[in-house]
Amino acid sequence: MLNGLKINKNEVKDYVFITIGLVLFSFAWAVFLLPYELVTGGVTGLSAIVFYATGIPIEVTYFLINVALLVVALRVLGFKFMVKTVYAIFMLSFLLWAMQKLVTTPEGEFVQILGPGQEFMSLVLGCMITGSCLAIVFLHNGSTGGTDIVAAVVNKFHNYSLGQTLIFIDLLIIGSCLFIPTFGDYIERCHKVVFGLCTMGIECFMLDYVMNARRESVQFMIFSRKHAQIAHAIGTQLGRGITILDGHGWYTGNEMKVLCIITKKYESVQVLRIVKSIDRNAFVSQGSVVGTYGEGFDQIKVKVNNNKNDIHPSLKKKKMKIVFATNNAHKLEEIRDILGPRAEVLSLADIGCHDDIPETAGTIEGNAMMKARYIRDKYNVDCFADDTGLEVDALGGEPGVHSARYAEGEGHDSEANMRKLLSKMEGKTDRSARFRTVIALIRTINGQEDVHLFEGKIEGEIALEKRGEEGFGYDPIFVPEGYTESFAEIGNELKNKISHRARAVAKLAACLLSTAR
Ligand code: IMP
Repeated sequence: MLNGLKINKNEVKDYVFITIGLVLFSFAWAVFLLPYELVTGGVTGLSAIVFYATGIPIEVTYFLINVALLVVALRVLGFKFMVKTVYAIFMLSFLLWAMQKLVTTPEGEFVQILGPGQEFMSLVLGCMITGSCLAIVFLHNGSTGGTDIVAAVVNKFHNYSLGQTLIFIDLLIIGSCLFIPTFGDYIERCHKVVFGLCTMGIECFMLDYVMNARRESVQFMIFSRKHAQIAHAIGTQLGRGITILDGHGWYTGNEMKVLCIITKKYESVQVLRIVKSIDRNAFVSQGSVVGTYGEGFDQIKVKVNNNKNDIHPSLKKKKMKIVFATNNAHKLEEIRDILGPRAEVLSLADIGCHDDIPETAGTIEGNAMMKARYIRDKYNVDCFADDTGLEVDALGGEPGVHSARYAEGEGHDSEANMRKLLSKMEGKTDRSARFRTVIALIRTINGQEDVHLFEGKIEGEIALEKRGEEGFGYDPIFVPEGYTESFAEIGNELKNKISHRARAVAKLAACLLSTAR
């Protein structure tokens, strides 16, 4: 439409398609529906009934009803809704008249183009065309006015969807045939209604079919060495967004890029053409997408309720507060990540505890429990504590609970600890070992104290010498089972997924989250 005298290309395209849709719509009425006195829903259907009953031309009734509805809509819905609708009403009134002039005999008689007694065949053909035409009009942001206006007005004041209102109005219009004496006796009037219901069904089916076919999207995954060229060509020629995913070939072990592209179905031939012209050997998968929402596609039409009271019931539960008896930032971050927003994990510093908590029990379990009990008794809070040890079979489980201070006389550091362990392992053939973490949880549930121990362990071997730079503690000399690299070589990301601590923390998290109050 005209927007400050600037003509928008898309608007022009909309009007061209709306006009084509209306031309075919009126053609279907004049050739297939009117000659066989078929009824449909909508204002066109109502106008046809008036025409069959009284002889008043269909375009006259259609125009008058729509003008009346427009006046109502202008007051209720505003001007913006109206421009294309007004155009469609004037255009369709004219086209209905013009088409009848074109297809009737000079005496003004309709011609039953499929021959007499072919009501049903004519109904099928006519409604396939009218349904498709309505889809073309709707897809180009138009409407044929009439019952659409009624539905939009009802929708503004009541919580009925457009579809529900349209079906209701159409049933009323088609049902009205029962009360029109010129349609013959009651049996004949019932026939009219049955035919009317068929027209409604076929028209709706075609409307949905064409609308959905236009909207259908497909997703491509393209695996090619020439991914950059393909992405560039698709981006510039189709104007579609492209996402490049980092992939890793399982067999070759090579890093590779995968292009992920969502397009309309009708664009898929162009995509394939581009890919083939750049890389004939590209590996491409194409899948149907049930819905695509976002720029260049549909809008998400579900209603969003911003009311804070509408959050999921599980999130309404009171946030649990729990103390982790540590000040180790890495451990705190890890557990906060896993527990998410449902738990507030406090450190020792957060509760003002700067004590040197005793760890004098003879076992890892004992130490974890001792630390948790200390905090529980002193601060009366829900809390958990962890303790870890490296257990080497050839050394009878040493250093175990003494892992942190294994080389006590030599300065309490990891380097000294590893040196001592490697020297003790000299000449040993059995180098099997495991890291074991135990977490002790003490909390109150329903007024009762609830105590748990969670264990996580990972089996492995003590290496012959230190290897790798990452990690901490004994990482450079511990090789986890199934790997050839040490914990210090495999990288923290992988280590934190398979480690003893990760396994114990996962069990703790499952327990806390399942009983979150
Ligand atoms: P904590 O109980 O977590 O303080 O661990 C006790 C000692 O075990 C630490 O001082 C480290 O030397 C060692 N340790 C614990 N976890 C690991 C680990 O993941 N890799 C290597 N050494 C660890």
